[in-house]
Amino acid sequence: MVELSSKPQSDVIYRVALALPLRTLFEYRGEELPRQPEPGDRVKVPFGNRQLMGIVIERGAADSAEHPGKLKNIAAVMEQNTGLSAELLDLTKWLSEYYIHPIGEVVSSALPPYLRQNETIQEAESWIHTTEGLGLSSDALKRSPKQQEAHQYLLKYKYINDDARRDNNFSASVLKSLKEKGLIKKVTSASLEVNATTSSSGSQVLREPALPLNDEQRNAVDSVTFHQFTCYLLHGITGSGKTEVYLQLVARVLQTGHQALILVPEIGLSPQTVERFRKRFSVPLVELHSGVSDAQRAKNWLSARRGEAKIIIGTRLASLCALQAPGLIVIDEEHDSSFKQQDGVRYSARDASIVRAKKNHIPIVLGSATPSLETLKHAQDGHYQHLVLRQRATGVVPPALSCLDLCGQPLHAGLCPEALDRIKTCIENGEQALVFMNRRGYAPMQLCHSCGWVAQCNNCSTNMTLHQQPKRLHCHHCDSRTQVYRQCPRCSSIDIGSKGVGTEQLASTLSQYFPDTPVYRVDSDSTSSKSALKSTFENIHSGQTAILVGTQMIAKGHHFSNLKLVVIADADQGFLNPDHRAIEKMGQLLMQVAGRAGREQQQGTVLIQSHQPDHPLLQLLLTKGYTTFARALLQERFQNKLAPYWYSATFRAESKRAENAEQLLNVIKQTYHNHFPPSRSLSVLGPMPAAIERVQDRFRYQLQLSAESRAELKTALNYLVESTEQHALSKRVRWSLDIDPIEG
Ligand code: ADP
Ligand code: ZN
Ligand code: ZN
Repeated sequence: MVELSSKPQSDVIYRVALALPLRTLFEYRGEELPRQPEPGDRVKVPFGNRQLMGIVIERGAADSAEHPGKLKNIAAVMEQNTGLSAELLDLTKWLSEYYIHPIGEVVSSALPPYLRQNETIQEAESWIHTTEGLGLSSDALKRSPKQQEAHQYLLKYKYINDDARRDNNFSASVLKSLKEKGLIKKVTSASLEVNATTSSSGSQVLREPALPLNDEQRNAVDSVTFHQFTCYLLHGITGSGKTEVYLQLVARVLQTGHQALILVPEIGLSPQTVERFRKRFSVPLVELHSGVSDAQRAKNWLSARRGEAKIIIGTRLASLCALQAPGLIVIDEEHDSSFKQQDGVRYSARDASIVRAKKNHIPIVLGSATPSLETLKHAQDGHYQHLVLRQRATGVVPPALSCLDLCGQPLHAGLCPEALDRIKTCIENGEQALVFMNRRGYAPMQLCHSCGWVAQCNNCSTNMTLHQQPKRLHCHHCDSRTQVYRQCPRCSSIDIGSKGVGTEQLASTLSQYFPDTPVYRVDSDSTSSKSALKSTFENIHSGQTAILVGTQMIAKGHHFSNLKLVVIADADQGFLNPDHRAIEKMGQLLMQVAGRAGREQQQGTVLIQSHQPDHPLLQLLLTKGYTTFARALLQERFQNKLAPYWYSATFRAESKRAENAEQLLNVIKQTYHNHFPPSRSLSVLGPMPAAIERVQDRFRYQLQLSAESRAELKTALNYLVESTEQHALSKRVRWSLDIDPIEG
């Protein structure tokens, strides 16, 4: 059906966003189109001598056109309901304005890549009842149980899509038999009338019964009010049953017929997490993350847009999926840095989701054992409702934390004798031990003992990391690889070795110490293949005695029932770092890793190795817990006029010529001083080199602005971005603006 607009077509123009780094919309006429596009629709438009896919942002009167004489026509309008929904379009406009980023790029990052490139989508197909099938009683087809099950499923849920087929093992032959009996037929999923707001009773959405909640969990679930905006901080120690709270909130929102969006960190999206949702709910669930193929991602996205998918679970990129009937947003591990995009549109999926919940008048739950300082501050100030889970849901006492002083101790692959002893006792008891080290590879550097030469990356201002299997030097910043040196290129000495310890060396040393115990290493080198990771986790989950060695990949979300001892090999990495954010991150990571210990039956033990066991913040964390530690950090931030008390933004510039990058930032700084009167409530810092000055043969500089009020910062940034774009140097230097940065 083509809905004709009330105005004659020559009277309207369309403003279209194209995926170009330009802050303008492009105007087109819409003559001779089979359908007049709506805002959010995908269109194909002529641009120069090419055709580009774009999104209609708004419709205007022809006399409002900037260049009315020269307007070209839209070439084609894509299928209805495959672009941005009105709600998502509104969110992308907010993102574009808040992050001062070209709308075309924001819009195109919201759309799944497949829909950005392709005109049509291979539509998913679903099975529905024929009139005859609908009339058949639910206990018919007794002689073929699987056919009966599919029939009963259809009576309950109206359609069977690909997900439902897979989840319930409805084979092609089962469906074919039902078709031959004239009971079911195939339709495209898009043609399904999905009435997303019809409510269903509890038993219809649940596949397995919910757990009886403890008082704290019950209080948390009951505190959440639907159909209105409130931001909740679900602050519960690891193992306190936050996930169970999410599950029960999701059950409630499903009963009102609305959709639930669950965001998890990149590393946290283990099959285990998704499995818990699939096991609990019988409603369609889709995943959106980088592990899903482009074509499937587009299908999942569209299924969420149509309201067919009731639960959408994914990483940062899922925060920009279209929802037909949003009812609840959950952000698990809200403090995790992967919620912030670090290139292109540098948005925070958490912050954008809070705005989205507000616009839609729905609740949002931020869950964490170690909330970020900004979230904790909002909760303290009463902007967020603070829900606390103090006990572990399983009743097990949280692990005992203590420090091991490394000073003067002999170290074996970074471990002191007492740590080795405790690992020995642990495995003698038939239990599992985890050694956490956030540094992969064999050693962080290759070094000449005669002259002190260190192997550096040719493209970056960093050391090359030494790896043994396969043997190579590897730059973790630009991914370049070279052969290991046998002789010093500077003094020709062959007394060349390595310095420091990475997970590879740690794992191999532990294998030598404990030859009869399997050692599993979990880091991005050992687990590059999905199947390797899966089998490693299967082995760990079997509960056999084992030693695990891992980076932060192993720190999150996993539940290992026989893990009793956790050794943190090096706490100093964070605590001796001058960057205030490094301490916050280390504190969070430490608590996360500690949370892996002793999740079932008995209390676990956590040993933290440090050369500064008396460090006041480390002591505070160990004796008083994360919240007190975080409050102390907040106090420091307040005194130093840092986020979350002040607001900040960083201009970044990079160039093959250091002076160009630095100069562009100096121009920005000068523009600021020329245009704005001196202010005590705004400060400018830099330009200065980035923490790693050179990466991939580009020099990187940054300039930071901080202000006491967001409005003052925003006014300055808007002006600076506009004037920078006019400057000739901005065409030769790669530059970007990072609002609310979380990295140095
Ligand atoms: P978190 O997400 O806070 O780390 P989980 O939700 O994973 O915690 O819960 C930890 C463990 O406790 C899981 O094995 C879970 O099944 C169990 N659990 C959670 N809530 C309950 C409950 N109310 N009763 C019994 N066990 C529970
Ligand atoms: Zn040398
Ligand atoms: Zn490099």
